[in-house]
Amino acid sequence: MTAPLLTVDNLRVSFPTPAGPVEVVKGISFSLGRERLGIVGESGSGKSMTGRAILKLIRPPGKVSADRLDFAGIDLTRQSEKAMRTLRGARISMVMQDPKFSLNPVMTIGEQIAEALSTHRRLQRRELDQRVHAMLEAVRIDDPERVARLYPHEISGGMGQRVMIAMMLIPEPDLLIADEPTSALDVSVQAQVLDIIDDLVKRKGMGLIFISHDLNLVSAYCDRILVMHGGRIVETCKAGELSQASHPYTRGLIAAIPRLDETRESLPILDRSQWTAA
Ligand code: ADP
Ligand code: MG
Repeated sequence: MTAPLLTVDNLRVSFPTPAGPVEVVKGISFSLGRERLGIVGESGSGKSMTGRAILKLIRPPGKVSADRLDFAGIDLTRQSEKAMRTLRGARISMVMQDPKFSLNPVMTIGEQIAEALSTHRRLQRRELDQRVHAMLEAVRIDDPERVARLYPHEISGGMGQRVMIAMMLIPEPDLLIADEPTSALDVSVQAQVLDIIDDLVKRKGMGLIFISHDLNLVSAYCDRILVMHGGRIVETCKAGELSQASHPYTRGLIAAIPRLDETRESLPILDRSQWTAA
């Protein structure tokens, strides 16, 4: 077996409060090869903090610690902010939960995507434009020349999310962290965008961490799933073996998935008292 792309050992994220530090990620460990790993859990379970901590994007006064945070043989715990900046985008990319805040309002779509590539590689203008248009086509934008000239406020939310994905993928990173990348989209566009990511991940042999609160989506697009609850990993399983999951929280999530082939008066309510320490 080849060495894993990412090894995370005892990762912790905490924030200071008047009553002392509060841990929101409580010592999680996992490793990732060139595979699609899903992180699923309800809102507030620590999924985004985990993704951001890997890229060392937790803002002070938040604190990150880990016994090991290795990416492709690089010890991330020892990298300076400057060194992290050369890794981000080029080797590890993250599609953030809210694309509206990630796009620069005063730059055209084309300029932003070009910049995502040109900060890591020197290219002639002509080649750069060609690469940008090809990338826009890859995320299924039909008229890339026109869209490249638009500003973020001139495009829809769905197109914004596709543009974000284009920006993150154009430098061809080894690892993509996608944090609820389709949460702003309606269901039909959601599937389209996830198919695009899936296709690119498979073709380029990248590693993917797909973060979502939606167990259905994660099991459809990932090979392996980590279930998070209260800052901890409570279950790890292969996507295909989800039905055999044993942790009561995971069983609760599975039971809460509405199925198309049944009708129910109301969704079951998760009974947290079973597994939450009082
Ligand atoms: P998820 O992505 O699973 O919904 P997050 O990783 O964003 O959850 O957040 C995990 C926990 O960290 C939440 O309970 C949230 O309230 C807390 N949190 C996030 N940012 C801060 C902050 N700046 N200060 C204190 N607590 C925070
Ligand atoms: Mg989140």
